Amino acid sequence: MAAKIHIFSEKNTNFAAGKIIYSSIMRIDIITIFPEMFNGPLTESIVKRAINKGLVDIHLHNLRDYSTDKHRRVDDYPFSAGAGMVMMIEPVDNCITKLKSERDYDEVIYMSPDGILLTQPVVNQLSMNQNLIMLCGHYKGIDERIREHLVTMEVSIGNYVLSGGELAAAVLTDSLVRLIPGALTDETSALSDSFQDGMVSPPVYTRPREYKGWSVPDILLSGNDAVINEWKYQQALERTKIRRPEMYEMLKKN
Ligand code: SAH
Repeated sequence: MAAKIHIFSEKNTNFAAGKIIYSSIMRIDIITIFPEMFNGPLTESIVKRAINKGLVDIHLHNLRDYSTDKHRRVDDYPFSAGAGMVMMIEPVDNCITKLKSERDYDEVIYMSPDGILLTQPVVNQLSMNQNLIMLCGHYKGIDERIREHLVTMEVSIGNYVLSGGELAAAVLTDSLVRLIPGALTDETSALSDSFQDGMVSPPVYTRPREYKGWSVPDILLSGNDAVINEWKYQQALERTKIRRPEMYEMLKKN
C-alpha cells in the first residue's frame, strides 16, 4: 500500500507542508481514483489561502493504491445483468480502515446523487466537525455494502448525475473551508452570504456610480447606514420571495 498523497507536498512549492500539518483545525481526507482533478479547486483562491494559513489540512488518497490486485483495479462487473462497472469493497475498506487507525473521524461521507441535498444548513452543521472523509464514486457507483457498513453520511450536490464524486467533493470542501474562521479576509462576510439568514443576498454595486447611464441606487450613496441596511433587508426579502419562494414561506412562519 502506498503512502497517502498530500496534495500540497513537494509538487506544489506554494505550500509550506510543515505549517499545514501542525496548525490545522480541520482535516479532510478525500478518497478518489482521480486525485489530479482536485488541482485547481483546492489549489487556488480561498481554499489555497486557508491551507497556507494552516486552517485546514486536505489529504488526497488514490484509491488504486489500496487495491490488492496487481493491475490496481478498483472496479468489477455487477452481479446480475446491467450496464456499468461497480466500485469494489476491498480497496475502499482498506483505505478507510487505515485512516481510522490513525485518528477518529466524525463522518465518512459518500458523495452520491441520492444523498441529502447540500444546503447551507447542512454545510454549517458539517463545518463543526474536525475530521471528515469524503469518498468519490465512479461508474455505476459503489458496492452497496460500502454504504451500509462504512459510510455514515451521503451528500448530493443536486438532483443531476455527475460522472464522478470529485467535483461534488470539491464543492463540499469549498463550502466548508470558507466557513472556517480566518479563511475569509472579512470575517463577517460568510455570515452575510446568501442562505445564512434564510434569505438570498441583496444586490451589490461598486464604482463607477454611473456607467453607460446605468446608475447605482441613490440610497446606497446617502451615507445613512440605518436606511441603507433597511433597504438591503427589503431587497433581500423581495429577492427571496421571487427566487426562493419556499424559503420565503419558511421566513414568514418563523
Ligand atoms: N448510477 C448512479 C450514479 C453514478 S454516478 C445513480 O444513478 O445514482 C458516479 C458517481 O458520481 C457516484 O458514485 C457519485 O460518487 C458521484 N455523483 C454523481 N452525481 C452526484 C451528485 N449529484 N452529487 C454527489 N455525487 C454525485
